[in-house]
Amino acid sequence: MSTTARATHDAAKLTAQLAHVVGPGQVLTQEEDREFYGQDVHHAGRAPIAVVRPGSVEELSSVVRLCAEAGIALLPRGGGLSYTQGYVCDTRDGVAVDLGRLDRVLEVNAADGYVTVECGATWKQLDDALATHRMRTPFWGTLSGLRATIGGGLSQGAIFLGSGTHGAAAESLLGLDVVLADGTVARVGAHANARGKPFFRQFGPDLSGVFTGDCGAFGIKARATLRLIPRESETRFLSFSFRDGATLLECMAGIARAGVASELFAFDPGMQRVRMKRVSLAEDARALGQVMKAAGGGMKALREGTRIVMGGRHFLDEDEYSAHASVDGHDAADADAKADVVRRLVGSKGREVQSTIPRVMRSNPFAEVNSMIGPSGERWVPVHGSVALSEGPAMLAALEAVQERHRQERERHDIAHGYLLCSIGDRALLIEPVLYWPDSRLLFHDRVLDPEYLARLPSYDENLPARAAVDRIRADLARCFMEHGAVSFQLGRFYFYQEGLDPGAASLLASIKQLLDPAGVMNPGCLGLG
Ligand SMILES: Cc1cc2nc3c(=O)[nH]c(=O)nc-3n(C[C@H](O)[C@H](O)[C@H](O)COP(=O)(O)OP(=O)(O)OC[C@H]3O[C@@H](n4cnc5c(N)ncnc54)[C@H](O)[C@@H]3O)c2cc1C
Repeated sequence: MSTTARATHDAAKLTAQLAHVVGPGQVLTQEEDREFYGQDVHHAGRAPIAVVRPGSVEELSSVVRLCAEAGIALLPRGGGLSYTQGYVCDTRDGVAVDLGRLDRVLEVNAADGYVTVECGATWKQLDDALATHRMRTPFWGTLSGLRATIGGGLSQGAIFLGSGTHGAAAESLLGLDVVLADGTVARVGAHANARGKPFFRQFGPDLSGVFTGDCGAFGIKARATLRLIPRESETRFLSFSFRDGATLLECMAGIARAGVASELFAFDPGMQRVRMKRVSLAEDARALGQVMKAAGGGMKALREGTRIVMGGRHFLDEDEYSAHASVDGHDAADADAKADVVRRLVGSKGREVQSTIPRVMRSNPFAEVNSMIGPSGERWVPVHGSVALSEGPAMLAALEAVQERHRQERERHDIAHGYLLCSIGDRALLIEPVLYWPDSRLLFHDRVLDPEYLARLPSYDENLPARAAVDRIRADLARCFMEHGAVSFQLGRFYFYQEGLDPGAASLLASIKQLLDPAGVMNPGCLGLG
């Protein structure tokens, strides 16, 4: 038998075994499905030999064992909404493991303050389930949380909703059930005691930490237990305009240190222009409806709606930076006091403007993920790094120097750029340069974007020279982050993670991989391992 014939035979045999475990309808082998699972938001790569959708942790464990025995790579995938080749392996045959059917909220324990959920559940599913209990997780989701999952967020350091006060997803974690490369289901956290329940993270070494931010290189997260806190009843929204990025970042650092804003984010003028273009009149009306609904009807809804209408669409100067804060309080006095702290810290360094942006964002935190395409149908890709609070201005200046070096290339290919900035607890400022360029969409976009929205957008021809230029600029920005000691979360197969590691840290990481996955089948290539 030739090598190709042998590979085809082995793939067919494995597919049949997988179908026996999960049921024939839950193994996808059609070419278009495989092509889709071989793409993320940015990269079109090697298609997996099959896609498998386990419906229970036991099925997941059997799937892992079968693939490992066959020497086929396991490529765990949650919502698929990342852009760093986290689940796309171009160098080896693999099986995509779609966690989407493991989406049950298993236990809400309000008395002991935790929730246990299967890792294929989305942040929206979890938040909806907790709403009836008037509880929430401290970090409560990404802006992609309509589709992005708990497992994806924990695997790559997700931040946003609640991150201003509670940091990244992993900081809300109490324990995990992880399927290891040999199919073993390992419990980490207090319930590692076989008689215990997952109410506490530390029980011996903090093994949960090993699996957070691993991009699935160490195992597949099947169940997660997260902390619960009461939902706040009052929220205040604040927006400010700033003349320059350094002043904005200094103010953001001050607010982050004070620990009062649940979300604190900002746009540079480039990003502001994109946002203004995106907002159509139809979306204005929809957003207004959502804000009024979120305000719960009655006079309060009317007041919120009026505020938006009066603010209009041009309350922000397109040449300025803008910062936005959502401030939660347990009652009106608490929320007002925190909002006053924010105002005092900004002082005369910024100008307070209509708070339409955070208001609209909070009224529908888990919106359709349409912003993965530019407002005129262009392609979109971000790259990010987080630095210590005092280092924001220097990092931004270094990134601008990289953009300047690529000025001619950007102009030649019509590549636009902007920045999203965000605070993470009282620890860090995240800086996210974003690139837009005219280029054709991938199958991924056509399947994932809201069809109504997609129908209104223009299309572009394939533009490989521009795409290659974007990849060069993005790689230079990632290198710049690494050289400035920044940390990046969605490491996947993209960032210069290994290049930046201290030799001792690199050796420890390689040893952990060797111990957990000696055959190198678990998402090989992620974190630069295996
Ligand atoms: C429009 C848009 C908005 C976004 N907003 C945010 C935001 O607000 N904050 C933010 O941090 N990011 C954001 N992102 C990036 C991305 O959506 C998030 O990082 C999100 O956490 C990805 O989750 P996912 O379930 O889609 O993971 P996937 O993309 O499916 O996977 C991500 C990585 O985790 C691994 N993985 C997934 N599930 C598991 C599992 N159960 N066990 C082990 N490994 C697993 C994968 O192999 C891969 O390496 C956004 C992206 C888009 C397109």
